[in-house]
Amino acid sequence: MMRPAAFLDRDGVLNVDHGYVHRPETLDWIAGAPEAVRLLNDAGYAVIVITNQAGVARGYFDEAAVRRFNAHMLDALAAMGARIDAFYYCPHHPQGTVKEFAITCRCRKPMPGMLEQAAGDWPLDLAHSFLIGDKDSDIAAAQAFNIRGIKFDARTQSAFGAVRDQDDGRPGRQRAQALDDRMLAHDVDGAGSFVEHQQARFAQDGARQRDALTLAAGDQRAALAHHRVEAVLHAAHQVRRASERERIPHRLLARAGADPGEIAPHAVVEQERILRNVGDAVAPAGQRRVVERHAADRDAALLRRE
Ligand SMILES: [Mg+2]
Ligand SMILES: [Zn+2]
Repeated sequence: MMRPAAFLDRDGVLNVDHGYVHRPETLDWIAGAPEAVRLLNDAGYAVIVITNQAGVARGYFDEAAVRRFNAHMLDALAAMGARIDAFYYCPHHPQGTVKEFAITCRCRKPMPGMLEQAAGDWPLDLAHSFLIGDKDSDIAAAQAFNIRGIKFDARTQSAFGAVRDQDDGRPGRQRAQALDDRMLAHDVDGAGSFVEHQQARFAQDGARQRDALTLAAGDQRAALAHHRVEAVLHAAHQVRRASERERIPHRLLARAGADPGEIAPHAVVEQERILRNVGDAVAPAGQRRVVERHAADRDAALLRRE
């Protein structure tokens, strides 16, 4: 069966690009990346990683290290219910110091060699395939191969958002959008009104502290808006696991994943984290005690729900 492919760059799209990443313990996921892979799995894409690894040609690490890191990535994803179908890497660089890899090749992006290789290895529906990368060379490789290239910036987007925003009308996108909208409304409003409530309580402590709280509230709304996608997918994942435990049929699972009632426990935890941040930002011990008491109330509420 022909499947469309989601070609993903690795460093800077799936994992944080610390520069020549190769040690498994330095795998730090980009926010939302595992969820994005799972979404692509569910939507029927072949998920194929296409990565330049010039560190091999430069003698920083060997090919075995690349394969070890990729295998570690696969294991970590499997634990989160997500799967990469294939990895392709280019070990070359024209200015390399390791002789056998110091060549001008066709696989190093912006050349399309790895994409061509993958298309030869797998039955892919290229008309509906796309590539997500964080560099111009990624997008150039996509163009050279005549598929859509999507530029991704981890500082302003979640990886999940980038996947969701590639608008080809497949069902996975619609489901993700619905989850996203619910979470935005639920979490931002919830946290915002709670902080306002706290502001009222602290009003007698003086204008300076009130200002600090206002500032913190604004930061939290921004942070929440930024992280909402990650949060909702975590919640959906928890629901899914619980459902598997209880042997709930799959068709009911989809509904449960989007049910705000199920998402609520996670939102409570999120608010607790926010409250602690307020406590840290505002500092006076009295206020921190209030924050901690609220956190304890929330813990108790969570336990009751479970
Ligand atoms: Mg990259
Ligand atoms: Zn190459």
